[in-house]
Amino acid sequence: MKNIILMGPPGAGKGTQATDLVDRYKIPHISTGDMFREAIANKTELGLKAQAIIERGDLVPDDVTVALVKDRLSQPDCANGYLLDGFPRTIPQAEALEEIGKQIGRPVNLVINIEVPQDILLDRIAGRRVCPQCGASYHVRNMPPHKEGVCDRCGHELIQRKDDNAESFKIRLENYDKSTAPLIGFYKELGLLKSYDGTGGKARLQKELFETLDNL
Ligand code: AMP
Repeated sequence: MKNIILMGPPGAGKGTQATDLVDRYKIPHISTGDMFREAIANKTELGLKAQAIIERGDLVPDDVTVALVKDRLSQPDCANGYLLDGFPRTIPQAEALEEIGKQIGRPVNLVINIEVPQDILLDRIAGRRVCPQCGASYHVRNMPPHKEGVCDRCGHELIQRKDDNAESFKIRLENYDKSTAPLIGFYKELGLLKSYDGTGGKARLQKELFETLDNL
């Protein structure tokens, strides 16, 4: 069973790896960031609540985020596995997820932690372009699309995220250190954590992840 969490600081490569993993293993990609951005684009109640918080780089409150994920994980397409990207981000979210996993009979069985030193992250974030349609990520210099400004995967126009600026990034990194990094110890204790070097290029990390997941 592939009930997986993808963890790592902003810019670690979670989104980049996630698109290839879900294509290969045919499991849903559950990115809370993508869900919030979609809600913002559609101007839903959730979107209006989350917009300012996200744009400045802060975390959406746990109760809102947990309810969203509980609902999503309960959908029938998660019965044969799922890939959580960007959730959990706090200890209370991780505790809630343990409960939800038990309740719905879909407990997490692997936590992938992508490690990248902080001095590399800002450059990755500053040059990042994303596809608002399918969630694929690119970098203007290190990982450009075949046609400038257009998604290789689905042909949609690429955008720069509003929170991919130096000011919001600093807050996101502080929130990562304070609230998310403690999850590494949490999942180590549960025996679920596997850490990977995220600095060796997309292909190398992908190969290592495929090797692990093919046997999961
Ligand atoms: P991401 O696309 O994962 O970088 O998420 C973008 C933004 O959405 C984050 O900076 C947060 O503001 C918000 N967000 C996404 N996931 C969570 C979460 N699990 N808990 C709280 N806020 C979140």
